[in-house]
Amino acid sequence: MAKPLSRRHFLRRTVAAAMLALPMVATAKKSPPKASKASVHYQDHPKGRAMCGRCRFFLPAVGHSNGMMMQGIKTNGTLAIGHCTKVAGRIAPTGYCILYTPRVHSE
Ligand code: SF4
Repeated sequence: MAKPLSRRHFLRRTVAAAMLALPMVATAKKSPPKASKASVHYQDHPKGRAMCGRCRFFLPAVGHSNGMMMQGIKTNGTLAIGHCTKVAGRIAPTGYCILYTPRVHSE
């Protein structure tokens, strides 16, 4: 039969486990800083067919509860201003920057 842990050993193991886990928690919460619009040559108009609304990094605006907008689409069918996972600030769905990466569609 296994020898029961003493209170001292139990506390030591608990503290050691917490100290090992702490750096993982600290790094998991940090996300890389977003680039400035200027640094990625952001423009508020598309470059040909390439535009933020088609980019994998675009985050559409969250829909309003009053029915005026759902999933970033306004009632007139256009996309609302959203955000980007890579670039700071409000991002127009018709904008463009050098980080543009088209979404991959599976059909
Ligand atoms: S990475 Fe550039 S093109 Fe893509 S959504 Fe962000 S700002 Fe727009």
